[in-house]
Amino acid sequence: MFDPKRRDTLRRLAGTAGIAALGAGPWIVRAATHFAHDPFSLGVASGYPTPSGVVLWTRLAPEPLARDGGMSNASVSVSWEVARDEQFRQVARRGVAHAESRWAHSVHVEVEGLEPGREYWYRFRAGDARSPAGRTHTAPRAGDSIQRLRLAIASCQQYEHGYFVAYRRMLEDQPDVIVHVGDYIYELSWGDNLVRSHGSGECRSLADYRARYALYRSDADLAAAHAACPWLVTWDDHEVDNDYGGLISENNDDPQTFAARRAAAYRAYYEHMPLPMSMAPTDSGMRLYTTSTFGDLVSVDVLDERQYRSAPPCRWRNGALNKRVRAEECPELDSTAATMLGTTQEEWLGARLAKSRARWNLLAQGVVMTYVTEARRPARYFWTDSWNGYPAARARLMQQLRTAGASNPVVLSGDIHSFVAADLYLDPADPATPCVGSELVTSSLTSQPPDEGLLRKYREFNPNVRLATGKARGYLRLDVSPGALQADLVAMDTVRERDSGTSVLASFAIEAGEPGLKP
Ligand code: FE
Ligand code: CA
Repeated sequence: MFDPKRRDTLRRLAGTAGIAALGAGPWIVRAATHFAHDPFSLGVASGYPTPSGVVLWTRLAPEPLARDGGMSNASVSVSWEVARDEQFRQVARRGVAHAESRWAHSVHVEVEGLEPGREYWYRFRAGDARSPAGRTHTAPRAGDSIQRLRLAIASCQQYEHGYFVAYRRMLEDQPDVIVHVGDYIYELSWGDNLVRSHGSGECRSLADYRARYALYRSDADLAAAHAACPWLVTWDDHEVDNDYGGLISENNDDPQTFAARRAAAYRAYYEHMPLPMSMAPTDSGMRLYTTSTFGDLVSVDVLDERQYRSAPPCRWRNGALNKRVRAEECPELDSTAATMLGTTQEEWLGARLAKSRARWNLLAQGVVMTYVTEARRPARYFWTDSWNGYPAARARLMQQLRTAGASNPVVLSGDIHSFVAADLYLDPADPATPCVGSELVTSSLTSQPPDEGLLRKYREFNPNVRLATGKARGYLRLDVSPGALQADLVAMDTVRERDSGTSVLASFAIEAGEPGLKP
């Protein structure tokens, strides 16, 4: 059996050797430290529950907005404990992790040896400081029958556009899991009538991205949401650079220069999310795609549609940046070599879907997948940053969804700061072909929407689109049971104030075994 103490000792030794070999700074581990300010200013988080464990996260940052979070180069030992009760009387597991400056003094603890499908509380201690307690849970065993799972889906939280009050309302729903589908930070400022400020310019360096995450996480509602339940996360573009793809930046920077910027952004992302250590970035990138399974009911395939995508079609036209294309002017659009997920992830997903036994197979990813032409049919006029710029890749995925045998696929997306509900067809443009699943696009938590005229085109020109509106900020609430998936599109009254009511803008149901949205 697994012995947590022994594993921590091994990890500490391995970590120390690693740093010494790299010559990357002091390797002294300080056991006892006094902090002038609370080192747990960024709170605690958990993620990626399995039947036997969960990932716990914190980052020591006594001065969160200062360079290096106000920490020196020294590593600091951080003890953690996981209890069965909120008062920490029945401690189930405890151990010591090491917060190293090379990881911005973040800690990612992969707790093992917990019971399946159970609620736990956790906290950290560093020197004389103790973190707030977080609540989390493990997943039920893969085959175990469960009757209900509630998920909340979030995306696009431009800090300057609003307060994160949607998280406060979301927690009142008591979600089992929060899934973030990208634009967790914004690397740059934009929009009108800002309610607060980044206080700094566009992120380019590791220090810039770290400070940006620290700023966002200093929002009490966001911190509370992380402490309330486990999260699954994927990024979209703004965690790095607007509308980038692979190593191609928005403004066509030298790929080597952009690679360094992307690596800094990925590293800061890892440092601030409750991700397992196996996802830590390497020289070649960061493996973020994975699957989380909740009993026999739900599998969530968390996808990465940014890191491996091929170049957007016809991006430059007469020397100008071109993000929308008419199909007849851009033969490249239909290239079968184009990829959104990259070959490795695409094959992984196909194999995953083929062996899934879950009743509901959710695909969490950033950008709109359903077919949307922005001109009256038969004109094909597309915004190329979404799956509409990668039609051959989308056709392969529709084929996978149709043939892999995974039951009840539902795609969860974000990115366009609007709610969209749509059905996915084997030929995505043709609702006369078999429906292979549905897509629910969550609106932005705060980010300002596109012109409503665009969403009108979505609705008018695309019979597969059931609803599209940018009028509300908010989130998606999913209640999944064996017979049906119920989706509520939750709209905030305002995000320009620190508190706000909500209303349900619309609800859709999907019945198991009957693909397609029902009102
Ligand atoms: Fe966004
Ligand atoms: Ca985006």
